[in-house]
Amino acid sequence: MKSASRCNLGGPSRRSFFQIGGAASAALASGILSESFFALSARAASLPHGPFPKDAVIIDANENPLGPCSVAREAIAEITANSGRYQYWLTEHLTKQFATQEGLQPEYVRAFPGSGEPLHFTVLSFTSAARSYVTADPGYEAGMHAAKIAGARVVKTPLTPTFAHDVKAMVAAAPDAGLFYVCTPNNPTGTLTPHSDIEYLVEHKPRGSIVLVDEAYIHFSDATTALDLVKGDKDVIVLRTFSKIYGMAGLRCGLAIGRPDLLEKISGFSGWNSLPVTAVAAAITSLGDASLVPERKQVNAAVRADTLAFLDRSGYRYTPSASNCFMLDTKRPTKEIIDAMAARNVFIGRAWPVWPTHVRITVGTKAEMEKFQAAFREVMQAKPARIASPRSRDLWANLDGIRVPRKGSGGV
Ligand code: PLP
Repeated sequence: MKSASRCNLGGPSRRSFFQIGGAASAALASGILSESFFALSARAASLPHGPFPKDAVIIDANENPLGPCSVAREAIAEITANSGRYQYWLTEHLTKQFATQEGLQPEYVRAFPGSGEPLHFTVLSFTSAARSYVTADPGYEAGMHAAKIAGARVVKTPLTPTFAHDVKAMVAAAPDAGLFYVCTPNNPTGTLTPHSDIEYLVEHKPRGSIVLVDEAYIHFSDATTALDLVKGDKDVIVLRTFSKIYGMAGLRCGLAIGRPDLLEKISGFSGWNSLPVTAVAAAITSLGDASLVPERKQVNAAVRADTLAFLDRSGYRYTPSASNCFMLDTKRPTKEIIDAMAARNVFIGRAWPVWPTHVRITVGTKAEMEKFQAAFREVMQAKPARIASPRSRDLWANLDGIRVPRKGSGGV
């Protein structure tokens, strides 16, 4: 890794982690929090925050261990020499290509560095002190954080017995709603909300509100897209990302798809900026790779089935996932399990306060999930014993179940 050492790519030191903490502290007041931050903050302070140890099993941030497909890697290599230029027309190429593939007009599609940005800006655009944010619980946390910045009431409704969003309860709980957030398949449960339920929301939502359908994980499943509602000019914005099945989380590319006037409203917060050309080139070629989605979907489904079969044999309960993550009931305090797994070099996902004994597990490669199984078996057979982490208490505060850096701790 000659070039890595020349560019000092060894990863952040403990000191620079605290600088990240400082930045996050500022972000709490006004900016975006996303999956990588939630994963990092859930890791015990006594555990590594820099590069993971060698051979670590990293299944704590819903990433795709396969990374970009081979044609995307070639496109990245090819464009690198010319990446001294902004090349904004490539972004237009990407949005037009997506629009053509999905049967949309190009002005219905806008590209961002990931889907976390449009998620955040959409919530800021449609919620306020007078218009609440409505979400499922457990659900992806980023929108709740944005709603708090907007001064909006956050309304959380439990999932149904089949782990879908309870759309009737969502509508009933929030006559003042500004935005209904539906993530399908859901992060963290991996479970689906039927298309008919999203239609119900569209038909019964209060005037002036919108439905934000987050399809970050849709390609892992057989779920029906909500893009037909966008085509029908409904009050719906759909989010897609290249971070999940396309394996591009570190490259940063995502899309917001909606009526042009809705996208225009988001632009009031997002402004306009260039995207990384490497990410756009990789996204364009990934969309052109017809075998990518079916192949990766099949690989994910096979490893997921194998992992769930192991959990069945071992007598554990989990959510019936159609995606690359699921919630696992450990029947024990989750912090203990997360730390004990990390001590075995297996980094599993976080817990949600509403389900205090569940942890989120991301489906990794077959080899990784075999290591997960061995470590989990060992941890669950051992006597419950806490791994003390006293510094953790000093460094982190609790924001609605999300651990965030405490002001004034270690440079924060
Ligand atoms: N939406 C959901 C449901 C997610 O789980 C994530 C990341 O994990 C995102 C959005 C944001 O991802 P990105 O900004 O990498 O596209």
